[in-house]
Amino acid sequence: MELPSPEETPGLDELWRSLLPLGYCTASGGYRRFAWNKADLACRAWFTAQATDRGLTVRTDRNGNQWAWWAEQLPGRALAIGSHLDSVPDGGAFDGPLGVVSSFAALDLLREAGWQPDRPIAIANFADEEGARFGVACAGSRLLTGQLAPDQARALTDEDGVTLAAAMEAAGQDPAAIGPDEELLGRLGQYVELHIEQGRALVDVGRPVGVATSIWPHGRWRFEFGGEANHAGTTRLEDRRDPMLTYAYTVLAARKKAQAHGALATFGRISVEPNATNAIPSKVNAWLDGRAPDEATLRALLADLEEAARERAGRDGASLSVVNESLTPVVEFDHALRDQLSKTLDEAPVLPTGAGHDAGILSARIPTAMLFVRNPSGVSHSPAEQAEMADCRAGVHALARAVSELAGDPAQLGVAW
Ligand SMILES: [Zn+2]
Repeated sequence: MELPSPEETPGLDELWRSLLPLGYCTASGGYRRFAWNKADLACRAWFTAQATDRGLTVRTDRNGNQWAWWAEQLPGRALAIGSHLDSVPDGGAFDGPLGVVSSFAALDLLREAGWQPDRPIAIANFADEEGARFGVACAGSRLLTGQLAPDQARALTDEDGVTLAAAMEAAGQDPAAIGPDEELLGRLGQYVELHIEQGRALVDVGRPVGVATSIWPHGRWRFEFGGEANHAGTTRLEDRRDPMLTYAYTVLAARKKAQAHGALATFGRISVEPNATNAIPSKVNAWLDGRAPDEATLRALLADLEEAARERAGRDGASLSVVNESLTPVVEFDHALRDQLSKTLDEAPVLPTGAGHDAGILSARIPTAMLFVRNPSGVSHSPAEQAEMADCRAGVHALARAVSELAGDPAQLGVAW
């Protein structure tokens, strides 16, 4: 028995065809699959249908994560694969779904070749990975592993004032039951998440599939610039206390300092008071997303930037306060698993990433690894996110090879990998 060649990937096209229309927004060309909204529920129903078609047992855990089990009755801790189906606002088609679709396609490939696992395999669809609606990323995996307090989660509120508890309840999921799930964690041995690359490293090395080494530490900081509201037409320039100037300077400084530290710094969101075209602002709130290869660098970047912003605020007659809203430490994926996967996949390149994932959250409890599929545009969280079909097929094959080695006897597949 052998795996079919990469050109033959049974079911992959059909899997994509059936999933692509769900939550698609014609106006933006992107996806709006937010936790527990109509589009997300359609994706969850799609997951159940795909699993059921394949004779897998679907279970939803107490935190709303879906699990499709193959050979659940076998002894040993399961190998979990999968990803998430929700999206950022107007996100692309691949971030998340590629991992779920590839998991089903890899299972098809292995079964077609007559391969049988020697321990259980579970395909996961993690709930609310992007945090687009309730503001906390990876809520499903954080709850599962005890990294998000149930009370805090239940009270999270979307912009229409709907709480996560109410949204879950409306979808038939009991919000009183959410929280750490030791029973489920005890059944999982490893987790391998396939994901589209959110950068261009694989383009540069000319390979379709890579293995993750680590997730950079990252955090969010709120910069509050205070000044004095006044008339845009009657206030002389020298009489102004304009916090927008300090903000503008800080944006440019963030870019410069990030470059100097080999880090990343992004102001992507601001709110202005009173937010009027003909008024000098009284307040600018700006959120900084900062990421660096290690925590010391990240802290040094922030200290540097805050010092520069404070100096400028003095010149502008503005005030400044900086609040750290979140900080996620570095995630080192399991070294043995990473090295094994790289070796199995013909010395696949190993690369770090700046993006958070459920695999990063789970790594606190079980050995995890990630496979990345080349993204020619390097763009992510946008409709421009892309992957070539040939690379998607290569990803499915890589995942199938990984599963065959981790959860059974790869020799069952013969020599023609
Ligand atoms: Zn993702």
